[in-house]
Amino acid sequence: MQTEFESLAVRGVQALSPYQPGKPIDELAREFGLDPGSIVKLASNENPLGPSPKALSAIEKTLADLCRYPDGNGFNLKQALSERYGIRPEQITLGNGSNDVLEVISRCFASPGDEVVFSQYAFAVYPLVTQAIGATGVSVPARDYGHDLDAMVDAITDRTKLVFVANPNNPTGTVHGADAIEAFLDRIPPRVLVVLDEAYCEYLQGDEYPDGLSLLKRFPNLIITRTFSKAWGLAALRVGYSVSSPDIANVLNRVRQPFNVDSIAMAAATAVLSDDDYLRRSCDINARGMVQMESAFKEMKLAYIPSAANFISVDVGEYAPQINQSLLEQGVIVRPIGGYGLPRHLRVSIGLPEENDRFIAALAKAVLSVTADATDGAEV
Ligand code: PMP
Repeated sequence: MQTEFESLAVRGVQALSPYQPGKPIDELAREFGLDPGSIVKLASNENPLGPSPKALSAIEKTLADLCRYPDGNGFNLKQALSERYGIRPEQITLGNGSNDVLEVISRCFASPGDEVVFSQYAFAVYPLVTQAIGATGVSVPARDYGHDLDAMVDAITDRTKLVFVANPNNPTGTVHGADAIEAFLDRIPPRVLVVLDEAYCEYLQGDEYPDGLSLLKRFPNLIITRTFSKAWGLAALRVGYSVSSPDIANVLNRVRQPFNVDSIAMAAATAVLSDDDYLRRSCDINARGMVQMESAFKEMKLAYIPSAANFISVDVGEYAPQINQSLLEQGVIVRPIGGYGLPRHLRVSIGLPEENDRFIAALAKAVLSVTADATDGAEV
């Protein structure tokens, strides 16, 4: 039943369901009377290492200036990004997390009546921002849980303004190689903008994967989005950015809030960019944790979607909600992804080895008890 005020909201917003974040540790602790220190959270694809020491000391240095507005142009961070990636500062648009940039892009380039193409099972924010601005989302059926790039090209019409591709994708972890992405971009009409969301690109190991930034010269209609929330370990601070042609950046910067990234966040992000050791450790611990998860799933005879990111989605069967509930009772938070149309799967972020062990043991227990309950029920 709609309330009076809800009916005043613009049409797209009335029908919107808000983004479902992972359950916070304190919330679970309150609900089940658990010690927060005993809870393992593997629900939001966060970096389990804790923040880089370089980021922490950069943060300390900004504290004396908290009374001042941040640098609205983000000079230092853009400079550091330019140097690290061989791009020009004019190509960069900073965001309050890459989520902010995704929203700004949508607001700048799509309006009611326009179409926005994305894949089934793709990151939830694409349909969400599309609907919020009143544009029409076109969800293209996935292939083997990943983006069907050919079908996405075929879905483009005269009304298409934007195409979102997550590489790797969340929540499936599926990824396309450089050749496939280039062949896809070759087929996109130049008037259609492609957003290549590379939130998890730092985890990709091997030359076969695309580096979106190197494609920008050949494809001026391309926008790359990246984040400091995952491999760089700064999720709480909300820093992301896009890299595009200066023309596109110029448009995005008109709509972006003038101070959308705060001083602390920019200082930490600037500092962490020079912490190669931190990035290497993040990727190493992730690669090892992924092996740990995969071998546990194989042992438990659970099917999973091979993932190139810092999480993995596992098919725990029709009792996924009960298994998730049992995990919560055991103090382990993962992410059910029924909202993505994957009701049998749970998405689990890769943690520290001991956190992964806690999850694996809890999962084994949950599967056993839920299956036993189901069998008991069948006998009654
Ligand atoms: N893109 C993808 C594919 C993601 O999974 C996420 C985070 N869940 C984001 C973008 C947004 O991350 P942030 O706003 O923290 O940069």
